[in-house]
Amino acid sequence: MKKRILVTRSSMPPLEEFVDEIRELWETHWLTNMGPKHKLLQEELCKYLGVERIDLFTNGHMAIELTLQALNLQGEVITTPFTFASTTHAIVRNGLTPVFCDIDPVTYTMDTEKLEELITDRTCAILPVHVYGNVCNVEEIERIARKHELKVVYDAAHTFGETYKGKGIGTFGDASCFSFHATKAFNTVEGGAVCFRDEKLGEILYDLKNFGIHGPEEVSAVGANAKMNELCAAMGLCNLRHVDAEIAKRGKVVARYRSHLEGVEGLQLNAVQPEVKPNHAYFPVVFEEETFGASRNEVFAALAAAGIGARKYFHPLTNTFSAFHGAYDVSKTPVALHVSRRVLTLPLYADLALEDVDEICGIILGCRK
Ligand SMILES: *Cc1c(COP(=O)(O)O)cnc(C)c1O
Repeated sequence: MKKRILVTRSSMPPLEEFVDEIRELWETHWLTNMGPKHKLLQEELCKYLGVERIDLFTNGHMAIELTLQALNLQGEVITTPFTFASTTHAIVRNGLTPVFCDIDPVTYTMDTEKLEELITDRTCAILPVHVYGNVCNVEEIERIARKHELKVVYDAAHTFGETYKGKGIGTFGDASCFSFHATKAFNTVEGGAVCFRDEKLGEILYDLKNFGIHGPEEVSAVGANAKMNELCAAMGLCNLRHVDAEIAKRGKVVARYRSHLEGVEGLQLNAVQPEVKPNHAYFPVVFEEETFGASRNEVFAALAAAGIGARKYFHPLTNTFSAFHGAYDVSKTPVALHVSRRVLTLPLYADLALEDVDEICGIILGCRK
């Protein structure tokens, strides 16, 4: 059966608004290389995210990978396996060794009680993930990082626009990396950004995203190419005007899900963090088969049979990827393994009809034996 309801649907501005935004590109023929759209989006994002400095990238992955490279790290990076492939790949592709910390069973972010025991004399950095928009224990991570003189880079791909205790989420750590992929709460079709404080780090990042070119006859670093182009930046400028309204609509969808699923035995819904202004990017549910009466896989199959796409996100764990040929011991992250075997993210996007949410929840609850 053809999917009727997909797990997500990209936010898009009205077509006329986008056409207006890109019209001048047809006059100037300036399509990439840090043009006026790129510059303007950078300024607007600094304001929106409440950060001092930001640079834009071709995607979220290159933002993370080049940030690790810019920090000139060597040795081990402590991270979590309950994340998208990108986080772990960025470490390995830099020639660094990922060391996997288990996750907290409620927020699914790095369990900081298990963090310090993983630090060795080879540890150089911590790469925690704000999973599903749940904010990591940033205070504890900062305390431990300071004590052991470690760099902290946040994978903030899920936390666009969030604040923690009133501060923009991009202000934490040495750097925070965002993804503006089509499936994220805010998109530039494909895109990403790094927020950082240190101006010097910004210069190195800029070199890495633009071949190290400093002038028409000056190439002073061996950089890659990870620039955001003008069409993507224009998409970002348009989407940014609507993002608050889109997040508010997502919030209504989430509230509808909660009205059906909150308090149902055997279901764990996403944590509500009182200090966080949420972006409602995802709606994960953990199914405990013994108490709920149906497994995650049974619910997934029942939804699929009704043409509804849910996603086993994140399954499998990154430390079990065949790409790594068994290099990592998954038994060291038992909580992550438990959650990844039971979690399903349900369809969620701004225009998802509340009646569709009712239907999805009806199917889920009907799975109980
Ligand atoms: C989407 C995502 C990324 C990568 O972002 P892209 O823009 O797709 O390259 C990295 N980490 C997490 C947790 C993500 O969800």
